[in-house]
Amino acid sequence: MKKYFLIILFNLSCFSIFAQEDVLKKLDSKADFYGDLARQIWANPELGYLETNSSALLQKTLSDAGFKVTPGVADIPTAFVAEFGSGKPVIGIMAEFDALPGVSQQAVPFRQAVVEGGPGHACGHHLFGAASVASGIAVMDWMKENKIQGTLRVYGTPAEEGGGGKVYIARAGLIEDVDVMMHWHPGSQNAAGATSSLANISTKFRFYGEASHAAAAPERGKSALDAVEAMNFMVNLMREHVPMETRMHYVITRGGEAPNVVPAFAESYHYVRHPDALVVQQIFERMVKAAEGAALGTQTRMEYEVINGVYNLLPNETLARIMHANLEKIGGVSYSPEERKFAEEIIKTYPAGVKSSPEDAEKIAPFIVNEKGGGGSTDVGDISWLVPTVGLGTATWVPGTSAHTWQAVAAGGMSIGQKGMMVAAKTLTLTAMDLFKDPSVTVKALEELNKRRGADFEYKALVGDRKAPLDYRK
Ligand SMILES: [Zn+2]
Ligand SMILES: [Zn+2]
Repeated sequence: MKKYFLIILFNLSCFSIFAQEDVLKKLDSKADFYGDLARQIWANPELGYLETNSSALLQKTLSDAGFKVTPGVADIPTAFVAEFGSGKPVIGIMAEFDALPGVSQQAVPFRQAVVEGGPGHACGHHLFGAASVASGIAVMDWMKENKIQGTLRVYGTPAEEGGGGKVYIARAGLIEDVDVMMHWHPGSQNAAGATSSLANISTKFRFYGEASHAAAAPERGKSALDAVEAMNFMVNLMREHVPMETRMHYVITRGGEAPNVVPAFAESYHYVRHPDALVVQQIFERMVKAAEGAALGTQTRMEYEVINGVYNLLPNETLARIMHANLEKIGGVSYSPEERKFAEEIIKTYPAGVKSSPEDAEKIAPFIVNEKGGGGSTDVGDISWLVPTVGLGTATWVPGTSAHTWQAVAAGGMSIGQKGMMVAAKTLTLTAMDLFKDPSVTVKALEELNKRRGADFEYKALVGDRKAPLDYRK
């Protein structure tokens, strides 16, 4: 009796190893197809909420494969939900696809724009979208073949770069029944720790003054640019009196048209970030006071519009450990001799002091838990306070490359980016398979979420009740 039991157990574990190998082999055989999908989005970079072609391409790939696709969700034309299966557990994979303005770059290891000043995929969201779709299809095929119970969704989430697409998808109730949400991000290393990010509020402050001849009748003018400068001066003084981890940055988006006309309109665009959303909210309120003071002192009128607001990422160690184990199973990115040469050229362009080598792309970063997020912000943050969320980063860029640079666009447009993207697709796939095979993990993950966010947590979007800023990149 015992012997038979052992044989059955052995067969079961063999079955799952074979199933894994099978699924990974299938993904490998479609690497060129998904690489081409990413490359098409890369070659036609579309800005936040304007990603008509990128979104349509991902939707078509999913529906051709057998997903039921609902386009235009949450009142956002480029957002979509693709679904397969029914019942519990519900596992989601998020897919991003928006580009950044002003970072157009060819897939070459030196600075060369495709269109000077044009948009480019400097955050690798073309890879993000394509790999999440690849993983979705791989998991769906495995579910079909093995009659796996549950619901699988791929969420098409637009405008991550400052548009907060996921906030509106969350607010529309589209993730309420999700047990685990997965995501990933292109990067210059392979890592799947339980790490956080910064909460962020971004705002456009608009000042309205009075135009006049700057030499003939300056006394009749009220300069909106003066107001912008006065506000920014106060915000810069404020830096001395905010908590250490705070980040504040701004650009002047409108500053007048000609020096001999007193500017009647000016606008500056501010970000404030901190690991704690509550602190961000408080500093933002002080920023509004600075804007009011600037308007008062310059006799202009001020209006502001919160463009985006996102929570910090809430890590989930229960899930992150599973993701990390799978990433180790898959391994990092190894370069061909040509890719190595490309990487060496890119590394030469880094500022002095940035140490990295092409071999770093093969390594997997050790597992860490870091609740004080550094660096950037992401609208995944809001999702992570609502449902257990887990993600990873892979080396789609040459080690040492920073996001939002031409070097990131360059590597993302060639085979290095595509190889890194497949590491993500495979790791997400194994993780989803683990969750479907043992849904009890989702219960533990929810317990951890509840502990981290506290019993009295009530989600309030930092953007308030505004609609998605569909025209913020127009
Ligand atoms: Zn970015
Ligand atoms: Zn990004």
